[in-house]
Amino acid sequence: MSILEDVVVNAKTAANAVGKKAGQLVDSSKLKISAADLNNEIGKRFENLGRIVYNAEKNGTDASEMVKENVESINDLYEQLDAIHQQLTALRNKTLCKNCGSENPIDALYCNHCGTRLATEEPEEEAQPEEETEVEPAQESGTTEE
Ligand SMILES: [Zn+2]
Repeated sequence: MSILEDVVVNAKTAANAVGKKAGQLVDSSKLKISAADLNNEIGKRFENLGRIVYNAEKNGTDASEMVKENVESINDLYEQLDAIHQQLTALRNKTLCKNCGSENPIDALYCNHCGTRLATEEPEEEAQPEEETEVEPAQESGTTEE
C-alpha cells in the first residue's frame, strides 16, 4: 500500500501549496505556475491510476478501492485547478496596487487602500457602461392611450 500512501501525501502537499495562497492575493504569474504544477500532478495521477488498473488486471486482483482513492485525489486536484482558474479570471478584472499590493477594480484610478495612483493614463470620465439597450415601447397589439 506504499504507493497509495505516497499518492495521498503528494495530494496533501499540493493542496497545502495552493491552500496557503488561496486566502491571499497572488499575482497571476504565480497562479499560472500553480496551475501548471497541478496539471502536471494530475497527469502523474492518471499515469498512476493506469498503472494500478494495469497491475490489478494483470494479477487478477481487485483494485477498486485504490482506483476510487486515486479518482478522488484527481477530483481534488481538479477542484484546486478550478479555484486557480477562478482566481485568474477574477484577477483579470482587478488591478493590483504597485505600492501596497491591494486589489482594486480594474478601472480604479487610485488605490482604495493607500491612495496611490493606479492608472497610468490621464483620468478620463468617458468610460461608459456598454449596456445601452434602447428601450422602445413595443406596442404591437392594441393601443394604450389615456
Ligand atoms: Zn495601495
